[in-house]
Amino acid sequence: MCPGSSSASAGVVPTAATIPAHPLSDLAAAATNAVTTANVAESNLPDDPDDEPLYAARKKIYPQYVSGTFRRVKWALLVVTLGIYYFLPFVRWDRGPNAPNQAVLIDFPGRRFYFFFIEIWPQEVYYLTGLLIVAAMALFLMNALAGRLWCGYLCPQTVWTDLFVTVERWIEGDRREHLLRDQQPWSIARITRAASKHFCWLMIAWWTGGAWVLYFGDAPTLVIDLATFKAPPVAYGFIALLTFTTYALAGWMREQVCVYMCPWPRIQAALTDEYALNVCYRYDRGEPRASLKKAASLHEHGLPAGDCIDCRQCVYVCPTGVDIRHGPNLGCIQCGLCIDACDAVMARIGRTPRLIAYDNDLNIRARQHGGQTSYRFVRTRTVLYAVIIVVVGAVMAYALATRHAQALTIIHDRNPLFVRLSDGSVRNGYAVHIANKHREAQNFILQVTGLAGADVETIGSERNAEGEPVIAVGPDQTRQVRVIVTTRQPLEPDASIPLTFSILTARGQVGATATDRFVGP
Ligand code: SF4
Ligand code: SF4
Repeated sequence: MCPGSSSASAGVVPTAATIPAHPLSDLAAAATNAVTTANVAESNLPDDPDDEPLYAARKKIYPQYVSGTFRRVKWALLVVTLGIYYFLPFVRWDRGPNAPNQAVLIDFPGRRFYFFFIEIWPQEVYYLTGLLIVAAMALFLMNALAGRLWCGYLCPQTVWTDLFVTVERWIEGDRREHLLRDQQPWSIARITRAASKHFCWLMIAWWTGGAWVLYFGDAPTLVIDLATFKAPPVAYGFIALLTFTTYALAGWMREQVCVYMCPWPRIQAALTDEYALNVCYRYDRGEPRASLKKAASLHEHGLPAGDCIDCRQCVYVCPTGVDIRHGPNLGCIQCGLCIDACDAVMARIGRTPRLIAYDNDLNIRARQHGGQTSYRFVRTRTVLYAVIIVVVGAVMAYALATRHAQALTIIHDRNPLFVRLSDGSVRNGYAVHIANKHREAQNFILQVTGLAGADVETIGSERNAEGEPVIAVGPDQTRQVRVIVTTRQPLEPDASIPLTFSILTARGQVGATATDRFVGP
């Protein structure tokens, strides 16, 4: 493990006097006053970690803008994920006549879920189970490879908070400007700025809620209905609810959600191992910290000085207010922005980048002792997660590709199980459910095999020229018929004979089969 404690935020709200005039131009001055730390593992540990409170009142965080590789990755993912969320309901997908043409649609009245070419019925909810297994394994795999990739780049809380912080920065200015403004008394200009910010946040939150309901109806029609107040009240209710939650979670609560509300940081902490890469301060390189001036002085006296100049840029850019140099922290969502900040510092002072990097403690310790570093991505757990994803995905794909557009369910009469008639024959009764998933009515021929010479009588259905029962089922409907199977053949005592029920489509193909038993006295 990286050194230090899991203590919470560091240096969240400095006073105006401690804010550098410009983050990078004043590095040298900031670093001159920095404290040289002999060993971060010792110096930053609280006297007794058990003394830390379980909850600390929120201190407002003013994350400073930073540019670099990880910021660019985050921008790209923000545009892609929010673009998909806001605009996907408007994507069309032709499914032929009598079918909705919205690519992704949760159709409650029609009891269907449409996802491009895939159409799921309520009784096929097991696909959701498969999807959840794949999603969980993908999270575990990400965690085993590179820590909280989900939290740092893809989690909705992270993405929307990033968007809200960006809007805030446009209106209130970057960290220093915003801090100074917040320390000034309220004025017309300050109130106007704050009102503009909250208005923009509410607009984003409102559109977030609005986009959500568009997944439950034809989006273009629903937009018009919402605008003309003709949409169902539940749609307005959900928009209001999601507007409030988005505004509260991304605008006000932000990192509190990650630190106190979300269970994933705790789960992933239990799932991780020593080989997983995490955003890590390379204390083997960084310690002992020393300002540029102090480092020069130390070198003159033959003493060592690390690469960290204690400029705190990594802390200022952190959206959760964490000082990564203190070691692993539940508050660190591993967004990589501190890597960008430190790389910029290193470039400015002519030192090698990646003092903060995706790494693990094994490698840091190996470097400390002159050993070899290694990155083991192929491990038992990563292979296991990948295999589960592939197997479950393949099973779901196979089941989807080979599923029938009709389904058959048989329920044997429970009481009585059989009836002996006066002529000695034995009769069993069944409730047969046939589901027709076509958008047109279908005629199914019912066949029962397994009991030679048995009579099959279907109550309430027609018969074709061959005398076989023909059951008509309307489009998108399920029909139940009662089937009586009678045999005059002598049966063994306590007979239990397997029967196969099949329905044939109009083309003579077997649409679905189900098995049950014929029981005797
Ligand atoms: S780790 Fe890098 S950014 Fe952070 S204080 Fe040290 S030199 Fe500055
Ligand atoms: S410590 Fe670094 S990686 Fe962790 S949340 Fe803060 S900026 Fe992101």
